Amino acid sequence: MNRRRKFLLASVLALQNSSFIYPSCQKCFSRIILVSKRSNCPKCGSTGESGNANYRYKLSLKVAESNKLFVITVFGSCLDTFFGLTATGLHRILKTSLDNIQMPVTSYSNALTTKAKPKH
Ligand SMILES: [Zn+2]
Repeated sequence: MNRRRKFLLASVLALQNSSFIYPSCQKCFSRIILVSKRSNCPKCGSTGESGNANYRYKLSLKVAESNKLFVITVFGSCLDTFFGLTATGLHRILKTSLDNIQMPVTSYSNALTTKAKPKH
């Protein structure tokens, strides 16, 4: 891989991946596998508690520079300033709001089911 830094001033056309954070190994930054309460890194064998997992940004973008199209992947903490928080912090917020959303959605669909029942 070419390790030289290149700067690209381009317009973002699309986000290629919908899940742009992933649980990462603290040692080698690879994606770790979370099984119930344990985490396991398939690359270096490091294990831990899934509750303590660190998350990392992986943003895959389709960009345009003049008349050329590129698909670029941006990794890691350089995106912290862009999002305004770390990937671990963002994951915590997303998880909390998903837990909160669950309740109203369930009660809403229950209300619909109750209304749809015939009254005989
Ligand atoms: Zn690892």
